[in-house]
This record gives sequence, C-alpha cells and structure tokens, in this order.
Amino acid sequence: MIAFAENTFIPLDEYIAQCNTHYYGARDSIGGIGDFITAPEITQMFGEVLGAWVISRWVQMGRPTPFQLIELGPGKGTLMADVLRVLRQHPDIYAAVHIHLVETSPKLRAAQKQSLREFMPPVMWHDDIKHIPTAPFILLANEFFDALPIRQFVYTMAGWQERGVRLQNEKLTWASREIPESEPPPLPRHLPTPVPGNMIETCPAMTTVLQTLAARMEQHPASALIIDYGYAVQNYGDTFQAVSQHQYADPLAQPGHQDLTAHVNFAEIEQFGAARGLQTAGPKGQGEFLINIGLQVRAEKLIAQSPAPEDKLEVIEAAYRLTSSDEMGTLFKVICLSSLYLPPPEGF
Ligand code: SAH
Repeated sequence: MIAFAENTFIPLDEYIAQCNTHYYGARDSIGGIGDFITAPEITQMFGEVLGAWVISRWVQMGRPTPFQLIELGPGKGTLMADVLRVLRQHPDIYAAVHIHLVETSPKLRAAQKQSLREFMPPVMWHDDIKHIPTAPFILLANEFFDALPIRQFVYTMAGWQERGVRLQNEKLTWASREIPESEPPPLPRHLPTPVPGNMIETCPAMTTVLQTLAARMEQHPASALIIDYGYAVQNYGDTFQAVSQHQYADPLAQPGHQDLTAHVNFAEIEQFGAARGLQTAGPKGQGEFLINIGLQVRAEKLIAQSPAPEDKLEVIEAAYRLTSSDEMGTLFKVICLSSLYLPPPEGF
C-alpha cells in the first residue's frame, strides 16, 4: 500500500508517479493474466515488422557502427526479442547494435533479461534516458508515453485550477488547488475560450524526454519511433484512466494496484519536432503504418507456414486487432522524429 498524508493536496502527476512506481514494481501487469495486453504480446508480427523497419532506418542513417537500439519501457522484453530475431539474420547490423533499455521496474528488468538471454549484442539498463551515452541511435517506444504522469487543469468561475487528489478520513477524493494567474496551462490556439468545467492535460515528463532526444538528434544521426494511443488534435477533456484485469476501473481505487494511463498528445510531439528543427513523420494510424511496413505480407507468410487451421486463424485475428479501426488501428498512432538531414522513414 502507498501511504499518503491526510489532508494534503497531491497534484495528479505526483499521484500517478507514486502509484505507477509501485504498480510496475510489484504486479504482473502485462499480458493475458495481467491487467492489459500490448501489441507485442498479441503477436510476434508486430516486433518482426518493426525489426525490418529498424534495419531500413539503419541503412538510411548510413549504417553507423556501433549504434544504439534504445527501447523506452520494454515491458516483458517481447518486442526487443522479436526485433533482435530479425536483426540476427543480418550480420552487419547484428554486430553493430548495442541495446539500451530504459526501465525503472526491477521486476520487469528481470523479465527483459530473461527474454533477451539468447541474443549476443550487449544490453544495458537505465533508469532514465538521460543516462545513456550520446551516440547514433534508433529508439522504439511502444505504450511508454501513456504511462507517464500527466497534470490536469480545470477551468472554474475563479479561473484555472490544478486537479489532484487528497486523502480525507482515509479515503482518496478528487481535489483542486488554485494556480498563479500568471501561469495558466498552455492552450492550443485552435481551442475556443474555456468555459467552467473544461479540462486540459499536460505531460511534463514527456516534454523532458523529447528535449533529451532532440539534443541528441542534433549531434548524431538518430531516429525515434513512438507508438501509443492518443490524439492528433488536442481538445478539452479528461483522458486519465485506470485499467485493472482488462476492465476500466476507478483511478482512485486501489492506488498502486491498477494501470494508470492517459492518452498521448501526438499534436504536441509533432509541434515539438517542427519547433526544434527535427524531421517529423506522422502521426499516422498504427494500422496504416503497419501495413505500409509489411504486416500483411508477414501475416500471409505465417499463414502459409501454419499447418493447423486454428494457427492460421490466430494470425488473421492478431493482424485484424492491430490494424482495424474498430480495434487498435486508428486510436493507436505512430510518429517518427529524426535528425533533420535523414531521408524520410518508411511507413508514413
Ligand atoms: N512496451 C511494453 C510495455 C508497456 S507498459 C509493451 O509494449 O508491452 C509501460 C512500460 O514502461 C513498463 O515497462 C514500465 O515499467 C515502464 N515505465 C513506466 N514508467 C516509466 C518511467 N518513468 N521510466 C522508465 N520506465 C517506465
């Protein structure tokens, strides 16, 4: 259990940070028996086509040797293992790659070590991307940014207030506090003037990661592929959510025992890239992106190789789940930030 002080305002980002540290450190969160399932856990095809994408990007970057393959929040290590199986077929890249994993949970680090034990390239773990030495890199982040703490601001008759939580008589409740009038939350220009009740979200931790990436992309050829669920246009609204055992739950119930996330603001990533002079591709729906980089071809090959009808069906279902607009194909989006002078990446 996490101990919160009675009657003290806790801003939402601090609440999420405390809960998630506990959550990812303690629970078997990802997969069928966990709370939520992610694309690499649905099918090996996801990592395999991303592996081919990594090879193509490395060639476009001029085959830097050595280079870093960085993953943010690698979960159980499944995506990286699927990518490395593809890279292993190509001796040049396999000999050049150094793996850097950014992971705070000791439990998930152990799972990642287990998943990657059969591969030759060196693997290093880091708590924070800023601790990785600066070098040419390709970065993958699948469902990482949605797990970063957000702040929420709500517009009231008295102006903007910050949303948070408070422990009152041993019960967590929603709370808000005034913020200095001189520091209103940043609003996209297209939004109408706020009316009471409107809410806006920011993700300071995401901005920090983007700044680190940008600084490195200016020094070395580098590319970051970010995949997550989120929006391409920011509106007023509340996207903070809790999931427990594949069901939506009350985010204030059982702190530290359920997955707390928020939709990723792809508009911010895109605008950040443009403002910093990076090359940006996307955001594009995950479905279209995966098909562009060969998911269908890979699925057909797997179907042809599977003798059992139930295995063929499993491949078809997995491909549908990743690409269909009714499932993960549109809500999930892909954006790629790169050093400005590189050729455009495949898939967009
Ligand atoms: N990419 C994986 C897992 C997604 S879950 C997949 O697709 O299956 C989110 C991952 O990010 C977990 O590995 C979690 O431990 C890690 N994580 C969350 N917040 C983090 C932080 N602030 N720093 C580093 N890792 C973090």
